[in-house]
Amino acid sequence: MEILLELWNEVIGFLGITQALELLQAGDYTVFTTYDGVASLIYPIIPFLLILEFIVGLVYKKPQIKVYRVNFLIYIFNRFVGRFIAIAMVTFCIGVFSKYAILQTSYTWYWLIYAYIVWELAHFVYHYLGHKVRLFWCLHSTHHAPEEMNLSVTHAHFFLEAPYADTIRTSICIVLGVKPELLFTVMFIDGTYGAFIHIGENMIRDARFGFLNKIMLTPSHHRVHHARNPLYMDTNFCNLLNIWDRVFGTYQEEQKTVQIEYGITRQMDSGNFWDVYFGEIVALAKDVFKAPGIVNKFLYIVMPPGWSHTGEHKTAKVARNHYLSTQQES
Ligand SMILES: [Zn+2]
Ligand SMILES: [Zn+2]
Repeated sequence: MEILLELWNEVIGFLGITQALELLQAGDYTVFTTYDGVASLIYPIIPFLLILEFIVGLVYKKPQIKVYRVNFLIYIFNRFVGRFIAIAMVTFCIGVFSKYAILQTSYTWYWLIYAYIVWELAHFVYHYLGHKVRLFWCLHSTHHAPEEMNLSVTHAHFFLEAPYADTIRTSICIVLGVKPELLFTVMFIDGTYGAFIHIGENMIRDARFGFLNKIMLTPSHHRVHHARNPLYMDTNFCNLLNIWDRVFGTYQEEQKTVQIEYGITRQMDSGNFWDVYFGEIVALAKDVFKAPGIVNKFLYIVMPPGWSHTGEHKTAKVARNHYLSTQQES
């Protein structure tokens, strides 16, 4: 019976309804007008959408089973390892960096906007490094392995990625004066919207959302980010506001003429949990082992994926520039 109870708690946890159930059991429904109450009702939206999307996929006979199966295994694996490391890192970074804050903020709407813009900058830094430093790409590539898009991709992460991401994001936010209360609100909005942008074509075929595509980051932008087409690779690193992609020149809209191909460029089996989870680490280890001299070995670890000691680089930048130059000629 205990196992059944555990399983039940796992399902409740996955659905994000733990907090709402506790509030309901307490019997005081006025709490649903408070921040915690509203948040408790927002948590379950993505898990329920995920299930609905899975059912719609079955109805359309586009079930994307390979992606769901691997992401389910990743979800289970991540539940057992490193669950609390990210939370611990956030608390640690707040403690260390609070005294270095360059300005003081308070919990008001305008500071919330400031906090969000700073968060997006910090998110850009972490995400950009995740694509441009081969060691960090080992942590991030699991998220890019799926070759179809649906909400289960939200759960496709290497277990050490969250601590790494949150260390960078929290430290930058705290130093730039974002108070912990603001940070947690921003993290909640980012977590919910950051999951939603993985909604797949089975649910929303054209996810550009009209004029919204011009002023914010839509699922369409994030589909572009997950693509391995030369034009799309290493673009759209932001999450909700794409100001920093525009500032740093990594903004790219979905083109009707360039159909998205999801996944990464390495030859791999996206239906194999081990390859999805550890494949890039193995590939890096092989390159480091084979590289001549200590300097080259080190460079493989810190240079972008595709960098080669022979000078024949196959980085995303090389592929994109080559693509753009061929487009100009034709
Ligand atoms: Zn990415
Ligand atoms: Zn993503």
